[in-house]
Amino acid sequence: MAMNHVQFQLGMSLPEFNRQFGTEEQCARALEQARWPAGFVCPHCQHVAHYFIPGRKHKTFECAACHRQTSLIAGTLFQSTHLPLTLWFLAIYLVSEAKTGLSALALKRQLGVSYPTAWLVHHKLMQAMAERDDMYTLSGTVQIDDAYLGGERSGGKAGRGSENKVPFVAAVALDEQNHPRYIKLTPVPRFTLKAIADWAQSHLSPGCSVISDGLACFGGVTKAGCQHQIIVTGGKKPKELPEFNWINTLLGNVKTSLSGAYHAFDFGKYATHYLAAIAYRFNRRFRLDTLPQRLLLAAIICAPLSESRLRGNTEVSC
Ligand SMILES: [Zn+2]
Repeated sequence: MAMNHVQFQLGMSLPEFNRQFGTEEQCARALEQARWPAGFVCPHCQHVAHYFIPGRKHKTFECAACHRQTSLIAGTLFQSTHLPLTLWFLAIYLVSEAKTGLSALALKRQLGVSYPTAWLVHHKLMQAMAERDDMYTLSGTVQIDDAYLGGERSGGKAGRGSENKVPFVAAVALDEQNHPRYIKLTPVPRFTLKAIADWAQSHLSPGCSVISDGLACFGGVTKAGCQHQIIVTGGKKPKELPEFNWINTLLGNVKTSLSGAYHAFDFGKYATHYLAAIAYRFNRRFRLDTLPQRLLLAAIICAPLSESRLRGNTEVSC
C-alpha cells in the first residue's frame, strides 16, 4: 500500500487534545481566536469597535457602528447548537483523526450522545469538509476515471440499472515526481460529455493535462480549457495499466474506507458527504497534527445548515 510514511506520522494525542480543548472556556477561546485572529470584526459592516453583551450562553458582541449583535457561533456551522462546544471539538478531533473515516455509530459511542445527534454532527462536519475542498481546483497532470459507489468501480453495465448506485468522478492530481498530491471524488448525474465538462469547469484549473481512458465523455474536459490525453487501453481495464496506478490505488482505498467504517448508507443522498470526507483527509495527509484546527476553520466558514436541508427531518437538532 502506498504512502506508508504518512500512516506512521503522529497526529495530536487524545491527552494533548484534552489538555488544549477540555473545557468550554478553552473551546470558546479557540473558536474566537480561529474566527477573528486579529479581534472581532462585525460580519455585517466590518467595523471592529464593539461591546460585549453580558449574560449570554455564548460570548456575544455588539457592533459599535451598526449595533447588530453577533454571538461567537452565529453564522458558523455551530449556529443554534444546544451541544457544548467541548463536544463539538471532540467530534472534530475524532472525525479528523480517523484515517479511514468514522461511522456515526462510533461517534455516538465516543461522544455519549444519541444516534440521531451523532449522525447530524457527523454530516455537518462532512459538509464543512466538502465546502472547504470545493474552494480548490486541481492543476497540473490529473488522472481521471469513472467509478460507482455501490457497484463495480469501472464503467459499463455494472454501474447502471441499480437504484443505490452513484456514479462519481475520481481524479488525482500528480506532482512533478508523478506522486499523488490532491484528489477529488465527485458524484455526477451520469457520465456524459456535458456532466464532465461541468465537473471540469468547477474542479480543474484551466490548462490542466488530463489523462483518462477512452470513455468518450472525458473529452468534456477540453471545454474547461484542459488538455486531454487518452490512454488506449486496448481491451484491458484501466486498472491493468501503469498509467492509472494512482487512480486504482485511490479507488481501492475508497472502497476499503467505506466498507470498513460505514454501514450501508443511502448513496444517492449522502455520497457527496462520504466521498468529500475521504478526499478531505487524503488532501491533508501530510499535516495530520493540524487536522483538528483546520476542520475547526472549515466549520467556521461553513454556513449554518438546517437539519431539514441535511435529511428532511426537522425533529432532531444538534
Ligand atoms: Zn456592524
